[in-house]
Amino acid sequence: MLSFRPSLLLILSFCFLCSVVSAQEKKIAITIDDGPAIKAAELEDWLRVAEELRESFEQSKTPVIMFINEHQLDVFGQREQRRKVLEKWLNAGFELGNHTYSHKKLRDTPIEDYFDDIIRGEKVTRPLVEGRGEELVWYRYPYLSSGRGEQATRVEKFLARKKYRIAPVTVDYHDYSFSNNYSRFLRAGNQQGADRVYEGMSRALDVAFDRAEKNSQQFFGRQIKHVLLIHCNELNAKTLPKTLKRIRDRGYEFITLEEAMKDPAYATPGLPPGSLGGSFFGGMAKITK
Ligand SMILES: [Zn+2]
Repeated sequence: MLSFRPSLLLILSFCFLCSVVSAQEKKIAITIDDGPAIKAAELEDWLRVAEELRESFEQSKTPVIMFINEHQLDVFGQREQRRKVLEKWLNAGFELGNHTYSHKKLRDTPIEDYFDDIIRGEKVTRPLVEGRGEELVWYRYPYLSSGRGEQATRVEKFLARKKYRIAPVTVDYHDYSFSNNYSRFLRAGNQQGADRVYEGMSRALDVAFDRAEKNSQQFFGRQIKHVLLIHCNELNAKTLPKTLKRIRDRGYEFITLEEAMKDPAYATPGLPPGSLGGSFFGGMAKITK
């Protein structure tokens, strides 16, 4: 027994070391869609949600890219105030991407209308970004609807001509499906109810990360640099610091989308058209059947 104990200790220490090393290796980029603030009809609420989101990322020094639906900026008498939200976001050192003007679903939209919506979606954002000597690089498909076959190829070629790169998603816990209930409880002054909704979302987060990590291991034998999708809603505006901590506690370091996309996983040969814009692991499943 005496000789067994040291070797067991050695094994345990080795396993602990392995888990620490692998934990440190986990990396994820945060992308936040439907910006600057979804489902906040009044200007005051819209500004508040947008400000709270930016402050959370700023205070925690977390890199992030926000995908804009420019129809939110296109409000008579409020355009300047709304444009300033994007300016502040860029001043904080964060990135902006195009999420179309009006959030049309590719599957249900004639392709020419879809192209128009992409171009209309960069009217304010592009000059703001380029005015700083930077480039508008990233595109995110609304509803992650990236099409298939010929349709998907046509959109990808259009985006490439416009020098856009497609932002994929590997972790998605459908935060949007909790946000209406959360806001309803808040408006009713029921913080306990809102907290319960948040707990439900946290469980969904854990399940989604477990699934993404399992997929990554299965397809690549390692943890690729992940890309998380969340949304610019009141739920995140109020709870983001807790959520970021939960993700950090899983062993993740936050990186930029550019950094995540350096992972060769995203350039896997043979990925069918649409794979990068929809479910990335879904695309991988099609070529590894
Ligand atoms: Zn969206």
